[in-house]
Amino acid sequence: MTDLDKESFYALHNIYSDVPTAFGIVRTNGLPLGVDAVDCAVYRTLSRVNHSCAPNVHHTWNPKTKKEYLHATRDIAGGSEILTSYLDPFLVREERMKRLWKSFQFECQCELCAAPSPAEYDLTVRRIKICSDLIMTCASSDPKKSIQFVRETLALLDKIGGEGKTPFYYDGYQISAMYGDYTLAQEFATLLLESYIMDAGEEGENYERYLKYSQNPRSHERAGCAPRRILS
Ligand SMILES: [Zn+2]
Repeated sequence: MTDLDKESFYALHNIYSDVPTAFGIVRTNGLPLGVDAVDCAVYRTLSRVNHSCAPNVHHTWNPKTKKEYLHATRDIAGGSEILTSYLDPFLVREERMKRLWKSFQFECQCELCAAPSPAEYDLTVRRIKICSDLIMTCASSDPKKSIQFVRETLALLDKIGGEGKTPFYYDGYQISAMYGDYTLAQEFATLLLESYIMDAGEEGENYERYLKYSQNPRSHERAGCAPRRILS
């Protein structure tokens, strides 16, 4: 590293020791290289972006360009802070607090955590968890029900800010393509592409694949593999 990079690196926060050790700094500030990745990277700027449970940007690692990206998920007024989430989505306040303390040792004071009554948000999050688990459970036995759970999950997400929809548009697309309902598959594929561009941009690793689905909903590898059903 250059002297400037070294200085910047050792100035990062370290929750494991008062002495600035490389191990503690990487553990505290490293961003995983993709979902569920073991490897991580520390950045001079991106590792300094603070956390909010109601973030205004989404961060993604792109294995093709080997870069980490931030995409705005809502309008951000000039001069306001860029905030990302260090947590998995759809956690109730108590669970968020527990995880943030364990991994980063701070008490979150974001707009969501500071809200006087988190009960409604927490109830919505719990229902999202139930519905999203049922989407795939029902996909083979009752695909129509499965699509209803996709729609309910999307409506619940709208209630809490509308982010995190991409995987559910994918579920809706995949299930309708499998059962040969290509009108519905087209509807979900279009929404999937729009939502993915918001999350990861056109440089995102899945962009080409989702573009292909939106141009031809029959192009999914499992399209038409189940007996044809109208699910809409
Ligand atoms: Zn918070």
